Amino acid sequence: MTRLLLLGGTGDALAVARHLHAPHVYSLADLGRVPRNLVCAVRVGGFGGIAGLGAYLRDEHIGLVIDATHPYAAQMSRHAHEACVLADVPLWAVRRAPWHPQAGDDWREAEDWRGIVERIASYERPLWTMGREPLAHLHEIPAAQFWTIRCLDPHEGHVRATIIDARGPFDLDGERALFDASRIDIVVSKNSGGRATEAKLAVARERGLPVVMLTRPPLPRAGREFHDAARTVAALAEHNLISTT
Ligand code: NAP
Repeated sequence: MTRLLLLGGTGDALAVARHLHAPHVYSLADLGRVPRNLVCAVRVGGFGGIAGLGAYLRDEHIGLVIDATHPYAAQMSRHAHEACVLADVPLWAVRRAPWHPQAGDDWREAEDWRGIVERIASYERPLWTMGREPLAHLHEIPAAQFWTIRCLDPHEGHVRATIIDARGPFDLDGERALFDASRIDIVVSKNSGGRATEAKLAVARERGLPVVMLTRPPLPRAGREFHDAARTVAALAEHNLISTT
């Protein structure tokens, strides 16, 4: 039987993992919550780069890798691609489709942290929804700004910022209340795609607020690519790699 290694860290990955049985393996970086109710094997922590992952594929007799990491986890995706080429193991990927601007949206693309800072310079109350990176820049908050940062990392707080530890999904009413309470005048986001965190974009649209969107990193191609968990599970079942009954 072909043994699968599923690289996770997203809702799509967890949805696929729920269809896996032993001896398949679900792999997580050592960052967030580890689900306890899966029947496949779960491993936690890095592999030690491309060489480490290559050794793991060989030692554990992995016959297919599915990269279902977040679209901004580009290093893991690159390592998976290179290790699979070296070990001659096929690679599939779950690549969630990005959001696209709609009528009324005012999106401003930024390539990196510097680009983001330039684009928010004339605003006062940014809402950061791009993970932990802003926490490393709290000492750089300009005198005219107050930041609202939503991320999963615990933090003791800061005099010039509110740090909100909250996990999606987020709905429209909740986002409207947050924008009101924090007097948000600009949003900073990754283009993660999916439904769970898109309400903030709708609220920015209805209020005519700009969104600074961090450009997606380039990702290596995979042998097969799927936009969501359901199509990935269907393909696994078609190839008799899992049973859906
Ligand atoms: P990254 O920069 O691409 O990866 C950093 C290192 O973390 C990798 O080189 C690898 O270590 C380890 N790693 C990442 N994903 C792993 C996995 N599924 N299993 C085992 N090791 C893993 O990733 P990141 O942006 O820090 O994200 C870390 C994790 O959080 C990813 O699994 C991702 O799916 C999830 N996540 C990321 C974001 C985001 O915005 N970046 C958002 C939501 C969830 P070794 O080199 O030692 O193997």
